[in-house]
Amino acid sequence: MRSDIHVCSDPENVHDRPVYTLGDSCPVCDAPTENSAPAPFDPTDRYGEYRRRARRDRP
Ligand SMILES: [Zn+2]
Repeated sequence: MRSDIHVCSDPENVHDRPVYTLGDSCPVCDAPTENSAPAPFDPTDRYGEYRRRARRDRP
């Protein structure tokens, strides 16, 4: 399932950490947000670990 989570597009020095929101603008600094996908790791991908493990065990 595709995530609708957006992240503040401002440089990291604006925030101490990435600001995530479901809206089109940052709730903190009001800057436009961008889609956070594709994330390096998708916590909703419950089967990713199993998939990677199966791939690794394959000859
Ligand atoms: Zn922001």
